[in-house]
Amino acid sequence: MRIVSWGLGAMGRGIAKNIIESSSMKLVGAIDLNPEYMGKDVGEIVETQNTGILVSKDKEIIEKTNPDLVVIATSSFVKDVLPQIEYAVKNHCNVITIAEEMAYPFDSHEEEAIYMDSLAKRYGVTILGTGVNPGFVLDTLIIALTGVCNKVNKIVARRINDLSPFGKTVMETQGVGTTPEEFEEGIKSGKIVGHIGFPQSIRMIAKALGWNITDIKEERKPIISNVHRETPVVKVEPGMVAGCNHSAKAYIGDEVVIEMQHPQQIHPHLEGVETGDYIEIYGDPDINLAIKPEIPGGKATIAIATNMIPIVIEAQPGLKTMADLPVPRSILSIK
Ligand code: NAD
Repeated sequence: MRIVSWGLGAMGRGIAKNIIESSSMKLVGAIDLNPEYMGKDVGEIVETQNTGILVSKDKEIIEKTNPDLVVIATSSFVKDVLPQIEYAVKNHCNVITIAEEMAYPFDSHEEEAIYMDSLAKRYGVTILGTGVNPGFVLDTLIIALTGVCNKVNKIVARRINDLSPFGKTVMETQGVGTTPEEFEEGIKSGKIVGHIGFPQSIRMIAKALGWNITDIKEERKPIISNVHRETPVVKVEPGMVAGCNHSAKAYIGDEVVIEMQHPQQIHPHLEGVETGDYIEIYGDPDINLAIKPEIPGGKATIAIATNMIPIVIEAQPGLKTMADLPVPRSILSIK
């Protein structure tokens, strides 16, 4: 399997490293705009063996190298990745992207989704949006668990995680290090967004279960710290915001059928908060899953984007979601 990596940030570097070190895949190109990477061997950038592949800012690498699949890890948003997906597909490449909005774009970006689906079918390739969340914890895993239910009435899921390992961009979009007033302003202006992906996860579950969701309501509240908290990129004093408690409720009429909570903050343990992923399914039977501590977001995103590569290459053409494809499995652990 010949692969091009587009985007060599925290996630893209991990994915490229997996590909370089895998026996079944070959990295044939690496694209990023970071001037510090230009002309350097991608192996050096991702801290593994040299490959002879130099990082380039030119998307034409795809045309020149003719890969089976392009992994796109450049942005969260459909508007940004759509031209990149379009270019890869028009060069007959399958695509995996970790852009959160691509996990289930059929509702939030209906027109673009129809276009991508028809383009992929015309070129005989598959497009998939995946990641840890959206892409796995609050959607694929939930859908899989409903497979052992005779009836599902309601789903409640929580992902309580630690933001401390993440960089400046994540801190800013979550409002970490702001005052409560700055947090409220950031929410109003759209600078602070919390988690990107609740509508995508909810719509993916609803499609799988045949539920006709009539409304989704989201709420973002500041997590005010009572103690000093600090990471290499941000300082939070008592009274300041340590994270964003983002939640969503999905309705069928007046009934709440899916509830999701995703409080994200730095150093939650400093105030006795344990991290974890929790899924409760109410139906026949009730199911209660607890994963403690939480599935680590960075490692899991890198893994699932890599592990889905052969599945996407083998899949029927079109724009797919995780719910359309075979069960994900590790391809990096052959014994
Ligand atoms: P990052 O900011 O560390 O890296 C992004 C990289 O893409 C940078 O190196 C940047 O130079 C490069 N880039 C941006 N636009 C480009 C372009 N047009 N051409 C070439 N290179 C370009 O981000 P990250 O942590 O690696 O994450 C990447 C994206 O994936 C983010 O938007 C993040 O929110 C998302 N993400 C999703 C999930 C999920 O669960 N679905 C998980 C983690 C990250």
